[in-house]
Amino acid sequence: MEPHRRTTPALDADRTRASRGRTVVPEPEIGRRWRAARARAGVVHLDAAAAARPSIATVTDQTDHLRRENLVGAYIAEMEAAEVLTGARARLATLLGPGLTADDVVFQHSASTGFAALLAAWPLPPGSRVGVVPGEYGSNLLLLAARAARDGLELIELPVDPLGRIDLDRLDRPDRPDRTAGTGGTGGLEGLALVTFPHIPSQRGVVQPAAEVAARCAAAGVDLILDVAQSLGQVEVAGIGAAAYVGTSRKWLCGPRGAGFSAVRPDVVDRLGPGAPSLHSAHPHDLGARPAPPARPLPGPSRMAIGEAAVASRIGLATALAELLAEDLGAVQDRITALARHARRALDGVAGWRLGEEADSPTGIVTLRPPPGVDATAVCRALYVEARILTSPIPAGRAPELTAPVLRASPHVYSSPAEIGQLAEALDRWGRPAP
Ligand SMILES: *Cc1c(COP(=O)(O)O)cnc(C)c1O
Repeated sequence: MEPHRRTTPALDADRTRASRGRTVVPEPEIGRRWRAARARAGVVHLDAAAAARPSIATVTDQTDHLRRENLVGAYIAEMEAAEVLTGARARLATLLGPGLTADDVVFQHSASTGFAALLAAWPLPPGSRVGVVPGEYGSNLLLLAARAARDGLELIELPVDPLGRIDLDRLDRPDRPDRTAGTGGTGGLEGLALVTFPHIPSQRGVVQPAAEVAARCAAAGVDLILDVAQSLGQVEVAGIGAAAYVGTSRKWLCGPRGAGFSAVRPDVVDRLGPGAPSLHSAHPHDLGARPAPPARPLPGPSRMAIGEAAVASRIGLATALAELLAEDLGAVQDRITALARHARRALDGVAGWRLGEEADSPTGIVTLRPPPGVDATAVCRALYVEARILTSPIPAGRAPELTAPVLRASPHVYSSPAEIGQLAEALDRWGRPAP
């Protein structure tokens, strides 16, 4: 299931000397092409996990659509763009497939609203048990907790390793004694109605063994909702085979803000209700009848449709997706991962900052824990103000597992080893305790 992967990545350039040892970052040609497709940056942008840089074409198509709305009428402009919008959903289905088409994908405002729509629609009778992880995204967990309190659900922590990755071994042998104190239950999947977790979390550069968990969920008859907000566009998602997905435009897909999506496998979707019934998600039947009958959902994932939206954002996302799928996805992934590995080697130990994950972790997310007496949020601000380097401070509470703030750097395929070198230098200067 890797139609875009080439066998031999080009390993010929972008050689730079990190603080220790030589690191080679592959696919310099893709990096150059993606940089050339973007406006000249006003900052050193190492923040794809918050909001990546869209291409000039993406911004142009987005703003052209706004002009077209003004010229011919917003709904006419949307009708004119119907094929483009369907094409975007088809490309999302390709990235999430196999077995999914445009008809299985519905646009949302964001991954969070997509998750809320899915969860509202998901059939979870009172007493249902839902498997979660300590790395769950805070907003998703707040929703899960609210639904649990309302409907008497039980949230069960899946067994994880010290970095928050689901421990397949303990998942398979639920009765084995818990080897790691304080990391939650010892449970397997039996008795769960639903499992949900982020493929890659926001606060740590790890990748969950999603395909392995999905296979076990399928075998156990448990639904899996996979949050791909931090993974789609940077690591392979196709082939995982979850029951449903949620994601967002502005992160690794390099689309505009204000767009997201959810997708549901066609053999699953008919079990879902209309999440938030509206004229966009349910039949307007018998609106005058008393007592009012329960809402009947529209077919397929339309039962989670939201109606009013920034259509221009979806148009921009369509362009960004076309650009991504024109690339060799394996090469994109190789370059992003290599940039992050390079960054971890260059940054670990600088001014006492330490990695939040393993140095070779296969994701573009790099996290750094500050030395004692240093405030990650203040350092992030100093990096921006003093050195014009954009990273993110991740506050405690982003996920239950994060108990103290960390600094997150996230290079995309257009980033360069030189920019990572600039970050290492700036961290050495601005990342120390105030004298
Ligand atoms: C950013 C993020 C979300 C939420 O995405 P929005 O588009 O901001 O709603 C969900 N899950 C993870 C893991 C994220 O990093």
